[in-house]
Amino acid sequence: MYRLSWRLGLGFGTLVGLMLLALALASLQIRAMTELTERFATQDMQRLLRVQSLSLTTEGVGNALLHLMNAPRNQRVPVYADVDERNRRIDGIIESLTNNLDELTQVQTLRRLGEARAAYAEAFMATVDEIEGNEPQAALTIYREQVMPALQQVLIESNMLINRERERIEQQMAQAQARFEQLALWVAALSLLAVGLGVALALGTTRSVVSPLKQLKAAAQRIAGGDYQHPVLATGTEEVDQVGQALTVMTGAIAAREHEIERLAFRDPLTDLPNRTFLLQTGTATQWPSSLAYPAQGGGQGNCPQELAGCHCRSLLLFDLARLKTINETLGFATGDTLIKELARRAQAVLQPVDSARIAGLAEFYEGKTLLAHVSGGMFAIVSEVNERAAIECLQHCLADAMVQPAQCSGYSVDLSLAFGLADSSADAVLPVITLLRNAEVALSAAKKATQAFAWYSAAQEAARLSHLGLLSDLRAAVAQSQLQMWLQPKFSLQTGAAVGAEALVRWQHPTHGFVSPAEFVPFAEQTGAITLVTDWMLAQAMQTLQRWQHSHPKLSISVNVSTRDLQDSTFCQRVRERMAHYGIAAQKLRLEIVESGLMQDAHTSIALLHCLRDAGVELSIDDFGTGYSSLAYLQQLPVSELKIDRSFVTDIDSKPGSLQLTRTMIEMGHGMGLMVTAEGIETEAERDTLKGLGCDVMQGYFGSRPLFGDKLQAWLDHIGGAHF
Ligand code: C2E
Ligand code: MG
Ligand code: MG
Repeated sequence: MYRLSWRLGLGFGTLVGLMLLALALASLQIRAMTELTERFATQDMQRLLRVQSLSLTTEGVGNALLHLMNAPRNQRVPVYADVDERNRRIDGIIESLTNNLDELTQVQTLRRLGEARAAYAEAFMATVDEIEGNEPQAALTIYREQVMPALQQVLIESNMLINRERERIEQQMAQAQARFEQLALWVAALSLLAVGLGVALALGTTRSVVSPLKQLKAAAQRIAGGDYQHPVLATGTEEVDQVGQALTVMTGAIAAREHEIERLAFRDPLTDLPNRTFLLQTGTATQWPSSLAYPAQGGGQGNCPQELAGCHCRSLLLFDLARLKTINETLGFATGDTLIKELARRAQAVLQPVDSARIAGLAEFYEGKTLLAHVSGGMFAIVSEVNERAAIECLQHCLADAMVQPAQCSGYSVDLSLAFGLADSSADAVLPVITLLRNAEVALSAAKKATQAFAWYSAAQEAARLSHLGLLSDLRAAVAQSQLQMWLQPKFSLQTGAAVGAEALVRWQHPTHGFVSPAEFVPFAEQTGAITLVTDWMLAQAMQTLQRWQHSHPKLSISVNVSTRDLQDSTFCQRVRERMAHYGIAAQKLRLEIVESGLMQDAHTSIALLHCLRDAGVELSIDDFGTGYSSLAYLQQLPVSELKIDRSFVTDIDSKPGSLQLTRTMIEMGHGMGLMVTAEGIETEAERDTLKGLGCDVMQGYFGSRPLFGDKLQAWLDHIGGAHF
């Protein structure tokens, strides 16, 4: 186990150290070079130049002396000055060199040079004496014998000095060069080492970070896949392992929560039995969540969900606690809950008995896969692989027997009487649990109806159930048993205020459900086709009414709503004609309302039918106009005489400029096509006034009158003479 931060710190620290060392060496080298160059320029070179100038000056002195010997007296003064100057310079150089030279041989050479210079100075003075004494011959002799050799000696010694200086400089240069090369080598080596270390460090760090991170990623993917069993393995890197540990802790928390969620989703909290959701998944799931493992009961018999994975469940036994609703209402829900728990306990005891209580007839259930589930309320289901009816009936008997003893709860002794519905698969096909459950429900309700202890599911029960429960047949019954009513909502002329007719609206008084709104059942009846029954019934009612009104209210018309389904029935027009003939009413008293959207569905047939009706003299209205997508061109083809503007445009029209504008256009358009325009759903005076102002012809709505029936309708009709709103 190591810390990534230590490793990184150590590695990068070493790297930085090496780099600093290389930098220090490089700067040392630069300093040494600078010093050498400086010394070379200020000392060595200066000395060399001085020595060179010594030899040159010495040569010059010789020549000057020669010139002095041959010069007339009056020209000697400047030459003396020149010679003196040169001599001074020589002395100066010798003196400065004396202070500068440190090498023994050079010191010795300089000493000899000094001696030679002294000899020369002596000879020079002697020569000058002879020249001034006008003894040129003697001066020349001294010059040749003393001055020249002395000067020669000075030259020799100064050349030696030069050579030695050159040699020294060359030696120093060579030494410096060697040192530089060595230093450069060190810097290069250190740099190389740093680069190598850097690369190794980068690789090592990458490996030590990337591979543990990869392990972490794999662990996270495992967790995401629902594998909470395997802990996140140690990677050897402390920081990564800390994340791994956090991940392991998180995994534990997720697993616990998931466990709980599964438990809540699949288990009924009251009885702690699998619930309906679980039951429906029986046989389909390949692996049940571990949270559903049952506590071992009765030797871990077949009621364990783990064993139901892939179960070929062939039969289902459904049983329901009778009178639970009454018990809840009279003895309270707590009593009801206690009963349900008691029922669950006794049923479990039948399925998972201690060895001594095992019933021979139930051996198959103990051995095969069997599951007891709480479906809802007092209803339980047992699903199993057993498919012999005798065995299933035996189980039913055993369960019924187990419930014989009344349960004691809240001081009451309550009977646990059960009704059973049994369903099984055919010999050749295993039914899905959902089908078995539905079949068992049908059988259960059949058993309850027949007040039998149990009933097996049969196809006949299904048919009976459908015919009794279906809304379709309910509606048929409603028509047959006069549960329907025709309500009439008056329509008034907006110009005169006089009643012009009424719209017939169906109402259904269901014997058990009470009043059912047409908005609820008309769409459904349209889907199933049962609406034609309603239309026929309403047409008959409307015509009877019109017949009655022939003398009392000859001006009133009745509008009947016609469904899209009716328009697709080619016999519809004929039936209307026959009915009108039957009741002997004037065709123009009958109006048929067709919703705008319905007209668009099968336009060809619809238009032909509308023409047929129009030819018969029936007035046609477009209902809910504005809610569909009819084009003006399309509407022009229709033989309609009324446009009913939908309520949504009329509501608050007085305060909504958008609705006002649209409605004005619709009214103008309707009038342009020669149609009577009716506004639906007028509820206020302001709405009425606005529509009147727009030139709308007829109004219908609560402001004029609500739909009327019975006495109220009669009262309205009685006053129709002065029936102005
Ligand atoms: P609809 O043909 O547009 O009928 C007008 C609906 O508006 C009726 O509702 C009526 O009660 C309601 N209504 C009238 N004035 C007002 C008002 O001022 N304010 C409000 N809020 N509502 C008003 P209902 O009777 O519930 O009918 C709803 C729909 O059911 C009808 O709309 C019609 O499409 C359909 N329907 C009703 N009776 C029959 C029928 O006998 N046969 C067919 N096929 N459909 C019907
Ligand atoms: Mg209508
Ligand atoms: Mg309408």
